[in-house]
Amino acid sequence: LYNQVQDLKGNIRVYCRVRPGRLDFQSVVENIEERTITINAPAKYGKGCRSFSFNKVFGPSTTQEEVFADTQPLIRSVLDGYNVCIFAYGQTGSGKTHTMTGPKDLTENSRGVNYRALGDLFFLAEQRKDTLHYDVSVQMIEIYNEQVRDLLVTDGLNKRLEIRNNSQNGFNVPDASLVQVTSMYDVINLMNLGHRNRAVGATALNDRSSRSHSCLTVHVQGRDLTSGAVLRGCMHLVDLAGSERVDKSEATGDRLKEAQHINKSLSALGDVISSLAQKNSHVPYRNSKLTQLLQDSLGGQAKTLMFVHISPELNAVGETLSTLKFAERVATV
Ligand code: ADP
Ligand code: MG
Repeated sequence: LYNQVQDLKGNIRVYCRVRPGRLDFQSVVENIEERTITINAPAKYGKGCRSFSFNKVFGPSTTQEEVFADTQPLIRSVLDGYNVCIFAYGQTGSGKTHTMTGPKDLTENSRGVNYRALGDLFFLAEQRKDTLHYDVSVQMIEIYNEQVRDLLVTDGLNKRLEIRNNSQNGFNVPDASLVQVTSMYDVINLMNLGHRNRAVGATALNDRSSRSHSCLTVHVQGRDLTSGAVLRGCMHLVDLAGSERVDKSEATGDRLKEAQHINKSLSALGDVISSLAQKNSHVPYRNSKLTQLLQDSLGGQAKTLMFVHISPELNAVGETLSTLKFAERVATV
C-alpha cells in the first residue's frame, strides 16, 4: 500500500530544508512554496533571483514532526522488504544533524528522523504481531578519510573495517557490531554510545563529526507466522560530512587530506544518484566507500531520499547556491 503511493513519485526524492536564521541575520531566501525555493543572491553570484524545485521544501518553521510525516511512508516500506537510503546533505551548520538526530539538548519533541523511524518500526511491528514477527537490529558506522569504523563498540575504536559483498546479505560491514533493538530505550542508549564514540578524537577546533559520514543502518527481518516466509529490508540513515569547499590555499596536511576525501565521496554520491535518476546502464558505485556500502540500497527497487539543508543567511549564500545546484542535479529525473 505504502509502496504504491511511493512508486508513483519515482524512487529518488529530494527535500530541501531551510534552517532558521540567527538573530538579526540578512536573509537570501526570497520566497518558499511547497516545492520551490527562490534565492535572491547579491550581484556577484549572477543574476538576482533564482528558483530551485524539489519534491518538497520545508521552511525554517517546519517542525521535526512535520518533516517526519513526509518521510514516514518511505520508512514503512522497509517492513515490506524494501531497501531505503536517507541522506542529510549540506554545509556544516546547515542542520543535517538536527534533521537526522535532533539538537544537543534532545527532547522527545525535538527528536529527529533516526529516533522517529525506529519508533515507527516498533509501532508497526506491534500492530502486525498477530501475523508477522519482526526482528530489528542496528549498526552504526563512520566513514572518515575512506576508512570505516564501528561506532557501537565500547573499546578498540580504531579498528578499520572492510565492506564486503556476499550473496546472502549483499554489501555490508560484517565486522561492525550488530545490535538487536526492541524499544526506544534501547535505541536511545545505542545512539548515545555512537555519538560518544564519534566525538572521540574531536577537539573544539577540530570537530571531526563535520568531516566524516555517519551511517545508522537498520536491518529488519520479518517472518510470516503462518507460511514461515521471511522478508528482509534494510535502511541506511546517513548524516553526511559537511559539503563546504575548503579553501585550497588555507588547507594543508590533515585538513587538505580530509577535504579531498570528502569532496571525492560527495561527488561520487552525486554521480551515482544522478546516473540512477537518468536511468544510465552503468552506475559508478565503486568510486567511494560510501557508494560501495550503499550499493544495494541505491537503485533497483530501493528508495532514496536526500534532505538538502541550507542556511538562509547572506554570509552562507555561496555554499547555499552550490548546495542547491548539487541537489538540482540529483533531482533531475
Ligand atoms: P550540521 O549537522 O549540518 O553541521 P546542525 O544540525 O548541527 O548542523 O545545526 C547547526 C545548529 O543549528 C544547531 O545548533 C542546530 O540545533 C540548529 N538548527 C539546525 N536546523 C534547525 C532547525 N530546523 N530548527 C532549529 N534549529 C536548527
Ligand atoms: Mg552535524
